[in-house]
Amino acid sequence: MKKCKKCGLNETYTKITFDEKGICNYCNFYEKHKSELHDEAALELKFQEKVERAKEKAKENKAKYDCLVGFSGGKDSTYIIYQLAKKYQMRVLAFTFDNGFSTQYGKDNIANALSKLNVDHITFSMNDEILRKQYSMCTKMMKNFCSVCFHNMHYYSYLFAHQNKIPMIVNGRTIGQILQTADSTDRIEPFETSKNLKDFEHQMFGGLEEKAEKSGKTEYLKEINDIEAVSYFAYHKVSEEETMRFLEENIGWQRPKGVSGHADCFAHAMAEYMSIQKHGHPVRTGELAVLVRMGEMSIEEAEEILEKDRKNFQELSLEEKERFYQRIGV
Ligand SMILES: [Zn+2]
Repeated sequence: MKKCKKCGLNETYTKITFDEKGICNYCNFYEKHKSELHDEAALELKFQEKVERAKEKAKENKAKYDCLVGFSGGKDSTYIIYQLAKKYQMRVLAFTFDNGFSTQYGKDNIANALSKLNVDHITFSMNDEILRKQYSMCTKMMKNFCSVCFHNMHYYSYLFAHQNKIPMIVNGRTIGQILQTADSTDRIEPFETSKNLKDFEHQMFGGLEEKAEKSGKTEYLKEINDIEAVSYFAYHKVSEEETMRFLEENIGWQRPKGVSGHADCFAHAMAEYMSIQKHGHPVRTGELAVLVRMGEMSIEEAEEILEKDRKNFQELSLEEKERFYQRIGV
C-alpha cells in the first residue's frame, strides 16, 4: 500500500494525494505554512487581539459573557476554561451538551472543575427522540455518529451565543483535529476563522457541509453571521501531557485510567470500532499524522499508538455494542 514518506498516512486516508516524491498533499501544505504555524509569539498576539475584540463587543452588546466554551469535562475544554477565565480575564459561559453518552468519570470531572473554576455553566439536552434518530441515521448511512454531537453541540452554541449576544465561541479541538484534513487555508485556523456555523463546520467536514445543507436535513442558522469561532489550540502549543499535568496541579483534575481517547464519552469505543471497519484505521490516525509532521513524534511512535487502538477496538464486546444501540434506539 502506498504511504506518505513523511507522515506515514496511507492511500486510504480521506482525499489524500501524493506528489512524485511520494509526499502527501497534507505534508506539502504543512511545509508551505510551517513558519506561520510555529510562530508562537505572532499566534499569541493574534489570539489576544481576538480576546480584546470579543470583550469590547460584549460590552457594546451589554452581554453578560465575553465567550461561550463547550465543556465536556475532558482535559482540553477544562484547560481552556481555566486559561480564558484566569489568564485572559474573560467572562466565560461553560456550555455542556448532554448527549446521554457521558461517563461517571466525565461527570465527576465537570463537578470538580466547576467547583474550582468560578464560571457559570449550563447543561443543555435536546429532544431525545430527534437526537436518537440522528444518531441511528448517521450510524447506518456513514458509520459515523460523532458528527451528530459535533453539529448539535455547535448548532446550540451558536444559538445560545446569539440569543445572549455573546460574540465569541471557543472550542477545544486539538491542533491535530484542526489540521488533519487541511490542504488549503480556506476557513482553516489559525489562517482564517469563521463567523457562522456552516463555515465553521467546513473546518471539520471539509465540503460535506455543502451536501448536508442541500439534503435539507441539516440546518445552519443562516441569520447568525457575526459570532467568531476560535480554536484555542490553533494559537497555543500545549502538549497533551502538559495539559494534564497543569490541571492536576491546579484543580486536582483526575487522569483517565486505562482507556485511550475520550474517557468522558462511553460511545468512544464504538466510534473507533466503526472507523476501523469503515476506513481501516483508528479515529486518531489523521491527528497523529499532524504531530509527526510537526516533529512531535516519529512515524514509529504514531504507528505504535495506532496499533494499540486497533487492537483495543477492532472487536467490541456484545455488552458494549448493546449499550450503544440501546442508547440510540436501534
Ligand atoms: Zn504526509
